[in-house]
Amino acid sequence: MVGESRTTEVKLCQEILQSLEIRDFAPQISACPGCGRTSSTYFQQLAQDIQKHIDKNMIYWKKNYKNVESLKIAVMGCIVNGPGESKHADIGISLPGDGENPVAVVYTDGEKTNTLRGNNITQEFIELVDGYITQKFSNKK
Ligand code: SF4
Repeated sequence: MVGESRTTEVKLCQEILQSLEIRDFAPQISACPGCGRTSSTYFQQLAQDIQKHIDKNMIYWKKNYKNVESLKIAVMGCIVNGPGESKHADIGISLPGDGENPVAVVYTDGEKTNTLRGNNITQEFIELVDGYITQKFSNKK
């Protein structure tokens, strides 16, 4: 359909502009591609769940949180590169790779702030992202 392809085109252009750091349109998620250091696909699912959360809330966030589109989130799959990449994001999570301590460390503004464990990591991390947005982008337009 013409309408659908036009929407896809616009989205693609926005992604290009954002990746070139010309203009931000929506919070960006950097997820590691995965490698031999992890056999888990949890980080991919987590990145998808966060993307869905962003898509669901973006209209409200844009109305209420100035510059929320500049938010950078990292979702990484192991302790080798996870902490470094996570520290470069506004908020990032480093999940455990194979044979690593089964904890997920969260970094906020470059500092280690939380350690998540157990079966509820996705929901807990999403709540931390929401808290970060409320705290950091609280100036209403
Ligand atoms: S963060 Fe870890 S699992 Fe992900 S690509 Fe880098 S080394 Fe591999």
